[in-house]
Amino acid sequence: MPKQKKLSDYSARRNSKNSGEPAAKRAKTKTYRGPKFVIQKHAASHLHYDFRIEHDGVLKSWAVPKGPSMNPSDKRLAIVTDDHPMAYATFEGVIPEGNYGAGTVMVWDRGTYKNIKKKDGKRIDMDDCFDHGTIEIFLYGAKLQGAFALIRTQKDNQWLLIKMNDEHADRRRNPVKTENKSALTGRTMVQIKKDARNE
Ligand code: MN
Repeated sequence: MPKQKKLSDYSARRNSKNSGEPAAKRAKTKTYRGPKFVIQKHAASHLHYDFRIEHDGVLKSWAVPKGPSMNPSDKRLAIVTDDHPMAYATFEGVIPEGNYGAGTVMVWDRGTYKNIKKKDGKRIDMDDCFDHGTIEIFLYGAKLQGAFALIRTQKDNQWLLIKMNDEHADRRRNPVKTENKSALTGRTMVQIKKDARNE
């Protein structure tokens, strides 16, 4: 991968007072350099959303039949599925018939996350969060922003995905219904399927 050009290089070559170009200033975006997360919309035998977060060099994964909700009153079932390789975070396309999970896959949302789980004011590390079955993360996604909890139920492989109360919680917003284009390519599920057929 080519080395990213630094803002200092940009500045060195310009005198913004003379050129009228914007001065070098890092934008205050809501991005965060952290571990990755991805949510893939997957039209397999049953439509679901695969919620994946980077941990220990893999994507820890849950299948969420109803997808994430921005409403803190909703508890969305999240069933543990196989760890996936990091490279899967940008997989978008069609898994052919006869294969496990056959169907169209869209990178519905992607970004980074921050572990925000604390106990007695102390940060709890992610390994312990997994052990305890209580994960609290802040998502910096293209669609989803804000704090989400993943809580393990009595059944080991069944967790609940819940929007935590913060300024990003929104009972009226239903991104799963209204925001249905890829965060990676801007394509719809139909377009992804069509493109795969023409490849
Ligand atoms: Mn899936």
